[in-house]
Amino acid sequence: MSGLVIHPKCGKRFASGDRTGHCAACCETFYGLAAFDQHLIRADHRVSCSVPTADGGEWHLDSAGRWHIGEPMSAAAVARLRGAA
Ligand SMILES: [Zn+2]
Ligand SMILES: [Zn+2]
Repeated sequence: MSGLVIHPKCGKRFASGDRTGHCAACCETFYGLAAFDQHLIRADHRVSCSVPTADGGEWHLDSAGRWHIGEPMSAAAVARLRGAA
């Protein structure tokens, strides 16, 4: 079952599911474990957050307010994946 969950601390809604993670510390929502993991900074046995910014770097905010990491999949990239190797 998936549905919308509201985090009481920030009031943000996010889809509850395997792929979406809402960080209880910085209250950002991430799509996929890789993206979630990437915003964590591990140093001296402590974990802190780096809040992503959409400044043309590797982070991308989707229409649902979730952060993705890496190159966005363009139509051309999808076509390449499906086409000849
Ligand atoms: Zn965080
Ligand atoms: Zn929150």
